Amino acid sequence: MLVVYDELYTEHLRGVAHPERPDRVVAVAERLGAAGLFGDRAPARDATDAELERVHPHAYLERVKRDVATVGSHAAGYLSTGDTVIDETSLAVARRAAGGTLAAMEAAVAGERAAFALVRPPGHHAEPARGMGFCIFGNAAVAARAFVATHGGRALVVDFDYHHGNGTQAAAGEGVSFVSTHAFPAYPGTGGPSEQHFAANGAIVNVPLPPHAYGTEPFVATWQRLLPDVAARVRPDLLVVSAGYDYASGDPVGDLGVAADPAARALGALIRETAQTYCNGRAVYCLEGGYDIPTLARAVEATLRAHDAGVETERADCAAIPARQRTLTDAVAAWVT
Ligand SMILES: [Zn+2]
Repeated sequence: MLVVYDELYTEHLRGVAHPERPDRVVAVAERLGAAGLFGDRAPARDATDAELERVHPHAYLERVKRDVATVGSHAAGYLSTGDTVIDETSLAVARRAAGGTLAAMEAAVAGERAAFALVRPPGHHAEPARGMGFCIFGNAAVAARAFVATHGGRALVVDFDYHHGNGTQAAAGEGVSFVSTHAFPAYPGTGGPSEQHFAANGAIVNVPLPPHAYGTEPFVATWQRLLPDVAARVRPDLLVVSAGYDYASGDPVGDLGVAADPAARALGALIRETAQTYCNGRAVYCLEGGYDIPTLARAVEATLRAHDAGVETERADCAAIPARQRTLTDAVAAWVT
């Protein structure tokens, strides 16, 4: 799979004690290099103000610029809209994270293939006017909006991070759909069972999961049941994957009790098949969470291998989906027919 990466992603919170730290992408890059999976690369670029403003109001961009300037050479401070630690590099790094996701999207579209934006800071909690949850700009939302604006058609954001992508959800509609599993109740408190909007041109589909010990087979089975149905109704031209690996067992921030590599492999195969069926193979991943660093590196490798090897999806047992989640996947199935 094509990978977009940039040394600038090792700035932003360098030397700050924080779970969302530069070592995350450094470790993934090293692991991919050792596995021979880091040769197929495209350069990142900076997102322009106009590209960011497809999702974020101009006043929010000005606010981020002001907040970062205020931190100055102090070690770190907070974004004034929420719980996101910033330092003097944060605006430049966040702009290139959104731009790296855009570059990966453009390569995926042009090459009718999959691409992985190995970026930080993550983006899916950044609402249009409110950065929060370690996120400054909505990388997935910016890429999905850019695709719809420049190519037409529909983008489907697939978010398997432990946490609900409230920011991406807030940017859905008008060609951008959003489907997510996430722990509930958990940070950020949104994505409950009533937050559904069944409209092909801007669907919002949330399947909240218990915050711990959901298990690998139920997790994989839930996605194998959910994604084909959502895709059949939305008929996307591009998949944008908010790839958060904090679902993995042992993650210090998340942890759904899900084995990292088997789940990443199964989801990678499922996403690849879905992209082939509807999108001529076009899928762009962007890194979201994942805070146990060795586990994160292994899981990203498993995602790339699942795409590159073209393995068929191993079917999980649908009977493993608990009744509470099955009610929601059944509602999606009823919407499709
Ligand atoms: Zn997360």
